[in-house]
Amino acid sequence: MSCLKPENATPGKTGPGGLDFNPFEVMEPRSPVLPPKEARNGGRVKAADARPAGLYLPNNNIQTPNMTSPEYVQLSTAAALTLGIMPGKMHRCGCTRCLNLLLTYPEGCRANCAYCGLARHREAERDYADRNFIRVDWPSVPMDQIVDIVAQDPENSPFHRMCISMITHPRSDDDTVTVLKNWTSKIDPATIPISILSNPTTMGRANVQELRDLGADIFTVALDAATPALFDRTRGKGVQSPHTWKKYWEVLLDARDIFGKEKFGAHIIVGMGETEFEILQLVEQLVEMGGHSHMFCFYPEKGSLMDHLPATPRDQWRRVQLGRYLLDYCGAKVKHMKFDSEGRVIDFGLPRAELDMIIDTGIAFRTSGCPGKFAEDISACDRPYGDSPPSDIASYPFAPADVDLRRIRAQLDMQKPGETYEEGDDLEDY
Ligand code: SF4
Repeated sequence: MSCLKPENATPGKTGPGGLDFNPFEVMEPRSPVLPPKEARNGGRVKAADARPAGLYLPNNNIQTPNMTSPEYVQLSTAAALTLGIMPGKMHRCGCTRCLNLLLTYPEGCRANCAYCGLARHREAERDYADRNFIRVDWPSVPMDQIVDIVAQDPENSPFHRMCISMITHPRSDDDTVTVLKNWTSKIDPATIPISILSNPTTMGRANVQELRDLGADIFTVALDAATPALFDRTRGKGVQSPHTWKKYWEVLLDARDIFGKEKFGAHIIVGMGETEFEILQLVEQLVEMGGHSHMFCFYPEKGSLMDHLPATPRDQWRRVQLGRYLLDYCGAKVKHMKFDSEGRVIDFGLPRAELDMIIDTGIAFRTSGCPGKFAEDISACDRPYGDSPPSDIASYPFAPADVDLRRIRAQLDMQKPGETYEEGDDLEDY
């Protein structure tokens, strides 16, 4: 049996106080402050009522136009580059395989999640369409323009999947349907499958069914927090936000019933104060239900209520990434793993040779999400640098090269005999 020794993991280099994990006590969000009255509910944008003119790049120096879904959507910077509507290049990535769309309104998301750049409390400082989300800007574009570009040649599109991300807004259920119909009117969902990143707080079972009937392939629920206490602290009453663990689970169970095995999943953020044991138990629960887990490494998003807190130490992140992959795709069980008194994995319950083989494929350390056209365990949703800077990659948006695997094994404290890695080796090669 293999045995990891977190107590030996580079003290002082990894997390708060030299710890190689983010403890619950440390990960306390700030309390939100009420924005001035004129800034609430998109007040500035509505008052100026500037007309949009095609693509809008987030820019805090001009008045944000009055754009709204379903006519307008936001899309990730990676998707805008891949679509060819924005100039630029990404470190070590030619394109993204997932066209991530986000509903948009002057009022923005009405929730206040502590780790999120789109949260309501930011009304005081940035208009909605100017806010950063998972570390990047999200340009706004007319939905028709996106559909027209992709519909020119869907079979040869770089995109292996399209995803509509809902936000918490009274119109988001209806507008998701309209955006979905707009897409499927010109693009066959069998050619580019569709995922829905849902907003359970405004949804019922009938909404889930309708999206399935209209051609959505996979339905995901962003639990984000791994335990009920963390959920409440970061997405519920703790930050004056409307979400509840109970409602999220209701919709997740609806998705299991309606979309079926392998066609539903949950997003989970690693390192917000849960233990590795707790998060891997949740991963296993999802596997037993027939679903998948999509992992994100906590990153202190600028402007969020958690931007003063430490990013997830890479030691913790790698252990959870590997544990999740073993549970999700290799038949591993939590009961065969061993954990220390802090809930850290000290043994994955598999022979070392088998673990080495799995680590060497690198797939466990790639971005996790809904699959594309390469393999069931390779996510189309590669979210380049959505949870880390390129200088310290958490989720690899490409197949890790040899130098990346040496770095990963060093972070896991599972180096091969004689193998070395110096911080920055991976940057020198590219
Ligand atoms: S519901 Fe989603 S978009 Fe809205 S604040 Fe929470 S995490 Fe951000």
